[in-house]
Amino acid sequence: MQKNRIDDAPHALAGYETMRTYNHLGKAVLDISSWLRKKGVRCQPNHPLGGLVSYVPLAGKAGLGWQGMNGLLITPEFGQRQRIAPIYIEHPIFSFTDKDPTQFSWIERYCENCKRCLDECPGDAIQETKKIYNDHIETIGRLARCLDPIKCHPVFSRFEGCSICVKVCPFSRGNGIYQIIEKKMTS
Ligand code: SF4
Ligand code: SF4
Repeated sequence: MQKNRIDDAPHALAGYETMRTYNHLGKAVLDISSWLRKKGVRCQPNHPLGGLVSYVPLAGKAGLGWQGMNGLLITPEFGQRQRIAPIYIEHPIFSFTDKDPTQFSWIERYCENCKRCLDECPGDAIQETKKIYNDHIETIGRLARCLDPIKCHPVFSRFEGCSICVKVCPFSRGNGIYQIIEKKMTS
């Protein structure tokens, strides 16, 4: 997601940027899956809004990044300014990328001291302690998290996309900030 749009949060333009990304990514995984199927690869895409598997731990195992306190993925490339969507394939066609998620444990430690998203959230939706929410919905690989979706959703709707927690996150500041924080936390 574009930084200048997210920096407008909680303006509707920031919400528009979130929805634009959901829309483009949803179409992208459909297009890629159609292409794979034409090549004879059996596959199933899931929309970035949610699906069969909890995406953030999946991304962690793929070595892309890790969950921040607000429940969203943090990556070296985009900080918190991205959305993710998986395509499940029946047979391996790429080299397997299962990484040890503990490589990102420094992100959890950083969040414990930061708490900016918790302090700035207008819906009091980010809690100090982690918990598993929505456990009535079958999802594989669900992680305990600090974000209470029941409290987030009304505010997210009221501001037509909110995104304040993404905007205030230090990892959203721009290119190179992830590496600066990582170096500080791991040296
Ligand atoms: S999107 Fe808004 S309401 Fe939801 S957790 Fe982030 S800051 Fe809070
Ligand atoms: S604002 Fe701070 S506590 Fe929240 S996700 Fe970002 S780094 Fe973690």
